[in-house]
Amino acid sequence: MLAWYDANARVLPWRAPPGSNAANPYRVWLSEVMLQQTTVAAVTPRFAAWIARWPDFASLAAASEEEVMGAWAGLGYYARARNLVACARAVAARGGFPTTEAELRQLPGIGDYTAAAVAAIAFGRRAVAIDANVARVVARLFALADKADVPAHAERITPDLRAGDFAQAMMDLGATVCTPRGPRCLLCPLRTECRGFASGTPEAFPARAAKKARPTRHGTIFWLERDGRVLLVRRPPKGLLGGMRALPTGDWAEAPPGLAGAPATAGWQLLEDEVTHVFTHFRLECRLAAASIAAQEVHAEGEWWPITDLGAAGLPTLFARAAQLFGRERWG
Ligand code: SF4
Repeated sequence: MLAWYDANARVLPWRAPPGSNAANPYRVWLSEVMLQQTTVAAVTPRFAAWIARWPDFASLAAASEEEVMGAWAGLGYYARARNLVACARAVAARGGFPTTEAELRQLPGIGDYTAAAVAAIAFGRRAVAIDANVARVVARLFALADKADVPAHAERITPDLRAGDFAQAMMDLGATVCTPRGPRCLLCPLRTECRGFASGTPEAFPARAAKKARPTRHGTIFWLERDGRVLLVRRPPKGLLGGMRALPTGDWAEAPPGLAGAPATAGWQLLEDEVTHVFTHFRLECRLAAASIAAQEVHAEGEWWPITDLGAAGLPTLFARAAQLFGRERWG
């Protein structure tokens, strides 16, 4: 695997070349957090912009949560952004980034996987980092039907030296060769050892868990406009998209809630358009409602944001898409 990695490692902006021991711990940590639930292609340009703005723990620790949430907009799973700032501040307070898996796990937003990945990749410690790619390779290599058996087998094959390169080699093999569909076994350095390949049906491993049905919730997104500005609010810190700037909404409900929860003014019009967004635990279907008022009419909590500059508001995807639909509805 290490020889394969030396020849085939993906060149990624947060990586040091194979065997160099020169990984930058801040970049490794940042990339691992960004890559949770988000693809390499989506992360790469955002990572470069982030590093230009906050090149190290100290600069990120000094940033406001609001700025960081704005820079995160569109990457999803916003708790990660809040945890990045909290973690950078914790690192600044303790006087440095810890180097062991156990200490890393104490920091905000660092779970078992990230602690192992950072300990191995940034600090060369022997640690077993199992992401979805690694789990798939291990399950096929040992023909494991049950994902629960993956960690023990991954532990067995992790070397004492170059554990970070080994982890990245497994990640790269899973991403480029041992892909979910149509693994390219003929190019694989593990082929002669691989029980999944020997079985003739490597794709059968690991067995897929039956997908749980996602419930659907309903809501309404409100567009309240005044003199070329639209009302934006901060969502409550806990809960879905907590702390993010957003268009006002009512509560999510079992059935479409209509105008319930609308900012207090007359003249709301419920539009035909709908925005749908799939979150981890449910699918959200939102109707849109719009109203326009004169300047003196309303006292609403929130910010009146210039409509022509909405791109700078850092709205999460759900609200950015709603804003686009409102724009299309108004200006065609
Ligand atoms: Fe995956 Fe095929 Fe390689 Fe086995 S031989 S690890 S199934 S790509």
